[in-house]
Amino acid sequence: MLVKEEKILQTYFGYESFRPGQKETIDHIIQMNNTLAVMPTGGGKSLCYQIPGLSLDGTAIIISPLISLMKDQVDALNSLGIPATYINSSLTPAEQQSRLREVAANQYKFVYVAPERFESMRFVNVIKNISIALVAFDEAHCISQWGHDFRPSYRSIVPNLKKLPNIPVYVALTATATDEVISDIQELLQINHDHVVNTGFERENLSFHIVKGKDKPSYIRSFLEEHQDESGIIYTATRKQADALYDQLTKRGVSVSKYHAGLSENERKEAQSAFIHDEKSVMIATNAFGMGIDKSNVRYVIHYAMPMNIESYYQEAGRAGRDGEPSDCILLFSPQDVQLQKFLIEQSFMDDPSKHNEYRKLQAMINYCHTHGCLTSFVLDYFDDSTAKESCGRCSNCMERQEKMDITEEAQMILSCVKRMGERFGVGMTAKVLKGSRDKKIKDFRLNSISTYGILSAYTEKELTEWIHFLIAEQLLSIEEGKFPTLRLNQNSVDVLKGIRPVEMYTAPIPTSDDADYH
Ligand code: ADP
Repeated sequence: MLVKEEKILQTYFGYESFRPGQKETIDHIIQMNNTLAVMPTGGGKSLCYQIPGLSLDGTAIIISPLISLMKDQVDALNSLGIPATYINSSLTPAEQQSRLREVAANQYKFVYVAPERFESMRFVNVIKNISIALVAFDEAHCISQWGHDFRPSYRSIVPNLKKLPNIPVYVALTATATDEVISDIQELLQINHDHVVNTGFERENLSFHIVKGKDKPSYIRSFLEEHQDESGIIYTATRKQADALYDQLTKRGVSVSKYHAGLSENERKEAQSAFIHDEKSVMIATNAFGMGIDKSNVRYVIHYAMPMNIESYYQEAGRAGRDGEPSDCILLFSPQDVQLQKFLIEQSFMDDPSKHNEYRKLQAMINYCHTHGCLTSFVLDYFDDSTAKESCGRCSNCMERQEKMDITEEAQMILSCVKRMGERFGVGMTAKVLKGSRDKKIKDFRLNSISTYGILSAYTEKELTEWIHFLIAEQLLSIEEGKFPTLRLNQNSVDVLKGIRPVEMYTAPIPTSDDADYH
């Protein structure tokens, strides 16, 4: 099976063997089955349509929303001696016409276009009259209204494409797809269940780390000293943070680039180019940087502050290690990060239901920073990836696991305190009551008169705060998301209180140098 395709892999692309999922995907396609491939970033999705495109007669049309990546893809194919081109709005009308004539003359094996191209009758007429090998939808989650990056123009071309008589097979490729998105794509492109190849999202070369309680600038300085020859991105939560870190590092003679929306287009272009071409190895940026950037040798992505949700985190962290080599994704957490993200949500122009949704996603991000379970599994579970294992063996939680400590009794005290406080307060107040704090607010609410006041006074407020967050992350305690989130008991809490569910915690390092508080 696939002798010809294996040969193409070796002779054209110079690779020994297929990566997981590639062979099945290619097999389905060359047997003319519409196929969906869900593979992580860097998993090798391009080859899944490029090899059948070379193997089958005719031209392969690749539809992609990322205009900025088309040229790179085409250049890569051209450098392998494969005739490929792209037609998009970055070309002059004359260039577009001339390329279209060449497409009509069957001069290309691969043609990359944006969805909008199908609004041009000229283009559609050319496509109608040539021999087509396949039509591939890259970033196929953009087709689905359930996807996080829905593009209506992407979806609307499907009925028109289906009217064309000469499209033998459709291929959809994506790195992010929940069950909803998968079935939506299947329905739209008529993809049979047997022809969905889902390798899961796990990026086995990425190791996730949470770092707490460290002075962030000095952590970054020593990290950069140890990783001088490696390329990496440091994401900050705001432009101000990016500017400050950039200034601090350049003052110390570290060579770094900076990218955020407050810079001029020229400055951004220069910074991006210096980073992509390895003239500067470190990029300090806000989330404005990265979309459509395909740099394969990024060895680490550090988040200087916690981002607002897991979707953004995984996408940004996932820019590390696209070449498949081991790479690190490090999140520097401090409690102030939570306040900053809440502030950003409050400041936004979203309506209340949308804000609530953002708070819900933010809470999942906070939980990620407090779980003692495997970080990789946490993320995969969040995306409903059923291929998730219990532990990856690479993340900081898997690596730093020491002894398990039974904290059932302390957990019961915390939970009963939440109950006695009427389930009306947040993490900070609960920690204060458990500690027996003399804070004025405690007196104002008469919380110093309840029986659990000071019941865990042997611990610091910081430790108690950490434990409460741990209970939330492990779903042993609920939190009503919002500007002032309140703690609530759930069924798991009741089980803990009844003594039918033990609570164990790994003896993870507790933050020490950071004395901010949660609210
Ligand atoms: P994706 O689109 O899934 O993010 P790419 O198609 O860009 O990933 O592939 C990522 C990298 O892996 C590329 O450098 C590609 O050449 C390489 N690659 C793909 N398939 C294989 C393979 N079978 N063996 C070795 N390298 C591969």
